[in-house]
Amino acid sequence: MKISSTDPLYPSDSEALNIVIYPDPVLKVKGEEITEFNNDLKNLANSMLKTMYHAPGIGLAGPQVGISKRIFVLDVDYKRDCIDEENDHYEISELNPMVFINPTLRDLEGETTYQEGCLSIPEIFDDVKRFETLVVDYKDVNGDDQSMSADGLLSICIQHENDHLDGILFIEKLSQLKFSFYHKKMIKEKKRLAKKDD
Ligand SMILES: [Zn+2]
Repeated sequence: MKISSTDPLYPSDSEALNIVIYPDPVLKVKGEEITEFNNDLKNLANSMLKTMYHAPGIGLAGPQVGISKRIFVLDVDYKRDCIDEENDHYEISELNPMVFINPTLRDLEGETTYQEGCLSIPEIFDDVKRFETLVVDYKDVNGDDQSMSADGLLSICIQHENDHLDGILFIEKLSQLKFSFYHKKMIKEKKRLAKKDD
């Protein structure tokens, strides 16, 4: 797949990273607080955004690229249009990239259900119950304190990504029956892919 964008917010100079697939153990590791706000962190945030846009997805957390740190990126607003079907070429526009570092959620209120998916658990989608609204306190890439209230898809996405930082996956929030079904399905899929690589 080829992605291009003329949007000035698109991290064109960054490199896309490999996305870790369930049940890789790194997805269960709790992320550590980030204490250094330097160029490496800015590069990581941009690489994560690029990885997310390429996948394509609307959110990506550190553990999903093998980095056990409290950082996630998201963009619930961008548009993606196929401009050349034969060459699998997409153009993305109206970017609204967001980076959250050391986030904490508060004032969680209401209830909403949304069919979620996860870049680390491909091709599995199911309804997850979440809070409807929240406030997130976090640091930006410069280390400055920020705060944002969220509802709708943004709120859902923040809760999903924040869970990743604690090693929690959306399929673990479903019934035990559904969880074991999806877990077995992913193990089977991983075995099938490993066989293909032989
Ligand atoms: Zn996810």
